[in-house]
Amino acid sequence: MISLIIPCFNEEESLPLFYPEATSVLRQMNCDYELIFVNDGSRDRTLEILKELSEKDPHVIYLSFSRNFGKEAAMYAGFCNAGGDYVAVMDADLQDPPSLLPEMLEKLESGEYDSVATRRVSRDGEPPIRSFFARKFYRLINKISDADIVDGARDFRLMKRSMVDAIVSMSEYNRFSKGIFGWIGFRTCWLPYKNIERVAGETKWNFWKLFKYAVSGIINFSQVPLTIASWFGTTMTGFSFLVLVAIIVRKLIFDDPVPGWASTICVIIFIGGLQLFCLGIMGQYIAKTYMEVKQRPHYIIAESNKKDFTPIR
Ligand code: UDP
Ligand code: MG
Repeated sequence: MISLIIPCFNEEESLPLFYPEATSVLRQMNCDYELIFVNDGSRDRTLEILKELSEKDPHVIYLSFSRNFGKEAAMYAGFCNAGGDYVAVMDADLQDPPSLLPEMLEKLESGEYDSVATRRVSRDGEPPIRSFFARKFYRLINKISDADIVDGARDFRLMKRSMVDAIVSMSEYNRFSKGIFGWIGFRTCWLPYKNIERVAGETKWNFWKLFKYAVSGIINFSQVPLTIASWFGTTMTGFSFLVLVAIIVRKLIFDDPVPGWASTICVIIFIGGLQLFCLGIMGQYIAKTYMEVKQRPHYIIAESNKKDFTPIR
């Protein structure tokens, strides 16, 4: 059986297009399947549409959150409630083409791989500045973390049960799925495809949201920013020692009084700024630790048509 997990946040326009397309592909693959739609606190008619679909089609399962918990939580809820031997995550806007599924399944069944993931080789239709920062982000995170993240990787991938169990077992609160997929390992095959624009509705990610997501991705998978603080400290100490020696020598040879306080103030402000910057980095880690320690649930499901779903996790 194949489980498809589809996080949906205000997708009333995309769902009527997504459902028939996904269903027709899955029917042709002649295997059992379930479509797990996770309604992530949508404020439009998404839930009504899902209910209508589930009444007509027993393959449709919906899990409806009590509020918007974010795509990461929606995917986690899907993983926790998926019963298939193979599980895939997919966007509701058809940016992840269902037509790739048969090829992905074939690759998995050959036994060579544990998961088949997709990556975009082009970023057509995306603002250039967004592509620029995205590329820089992937370069950086691969350098400073042990999560192996491929540039252009989508969350769209088909996985075997063993991999899904590993993902469910990683119950951290601050989730960054691209990092988690890489971190757990397993043999992954990458399928490249050209970027497709959303069929209907609007993207839920603005630049600021993406930026915060990128920063938290780095903090979740790397301790390098913390070491930056110590490096700054060491360099500054070394530098100030050299300056001190120079000043003493000058005093002894030329008996020169130290001129000007402007330069002094500049140095004080500079060092003060550096200290605050480093404190800020530490604050980020402490804040993440605080959220983890509280052990709040990742999501709360208010209603569902599944019989034995996990309502809170
Ligand atoms: N999504 C979600 N919760 C959110 C934001 C997005 O479940 O808070 C879902 C959304 O419905 C879609 C997928 O995540 O199925 C990807 O979102 P979107 O297409 O807006 O992102 P983009 O493709 O532009 O990166
Ligand atoms: Mg999209």
